[in-house]
Amino acid sequence: MAGQSYSDAGGYVEFIPGDAPLIIVAPHGGTQSPAGLPDRNCSGCVTVNDLNTQELARAIVDTFRVRTGARPALVLNRLHRRKFDGNRAQAEATGGTAALANTWTWWHAAIDSAKANVGRRTTRGLLIDLHGHGHAVARLELGYLLNGTDLRSGDAALVASAAMARTSIARLSGDTPSAPDRGLPLLRGSRSLGAFITARGYPAVPSPSDPAPQAGQEFFEGGYNTERHGSLNGGAVDAIQIECHLNGVRDSEAARAAFASALVTALLQYLDVHYGWRPA
Ligand SMILES: [Zn+2]
Repeated sequence: MAGQSYSDAGGYVEFIPGDAPLIIVAPHGGTQSPAGLPDRNCSGCVTVNDLNTQELARAIVDTFRVRTGARPALVLNRLHRRKFDGNRAQAEATGGTAALANTWTWWHAAIDSAKANVGRRTTRGLLIDLHGHGHAVARLELGYLLNGTDLRSGDAALVASAAMARTSIARLSGDTPSAPDRGLPLLRGSRSLGAFITARGYPAVPSPSDPAPQAGQEFFEGGYNTERHGSLNGGAVDAIQIECHLNGVRDSEAARAAFASALVTALLQYLDVHYGWRPA
C-alpha cells in the first residue's frame, strides 16, 4: 500500500510503495553495521558510502509528495556499504555472506514491485538510482549507460551507432510523446533531464551546456541497477543514475532541501513532457 514501510526479514532494506510514476532508489546511503554481518572483502569491492544519499532520497520523496499529493516509491539500503551493496550482482553485493542472499533478492523484488505498480497505474514511468560522487568537477553526473568516450564521440557518431538503443532510457527515446525529443535529443537536448536540472541552478553532464565529460575527467555512466531496472531491454520503466557532488547538494539538511526542491521541479517537467503525467 502506498506510503506504508516494508522491510526484509533482517530490516536491512526498506520499501515504501508510491502512487506516482517515479521510483527513487538509494543503494549506497545506509548507516547500519550489525556486528553479526561480516564486512565485504571481495576483491575490488568498493565499501565507501555515498554520504547522506539516504537522507537526500527521503527529502526528494517528501518534497514531491508535498508539492503534488502523489508519492514516488522509495527503495533504501539501510546497511552500510561495507556490509551490503545495493548496486551490484549478488556475489559482489553480499560479499558472499549467505545471510544476505535473501536481502539481495528482496531488494530487487522491491524494485520490481515498484516498477509493476507504475506499469499498472500509469503505463510508463521513471526510476532514479541516486548516488554521490567525489570527482573533481562539482556537477551532477547523469548515467544512461553511455560512458565518457561514447558521449565525446559526437552526435553524428552516436546516431550512426544507434547509441540510444544501448541506454537505460532506450524505450523512452522511441516513445516519448514529445516527438522532436525522440532519439539523441532526449540525452542532452533542450528537454533532457540535464537541461531541466541545469536550468534550476545545478550543472549536469550530459546537458546542452555540458554535453560530455572531457577526456581525463572522471564520470560514472550508470551501474547494475541502471542496466537491470531501466528500459535497455524494454519494460514500463526507464532509469537514470544521478551521481551528486557533495557541496551544496547533500552536505547539509538545508542543501538537501534546496536540491530536492530543484530536482522535483525538473522531474515534474520531465514527467509532463516525456510521460504525459502531471499531478491531479
Ligand atoms: Zn554509489
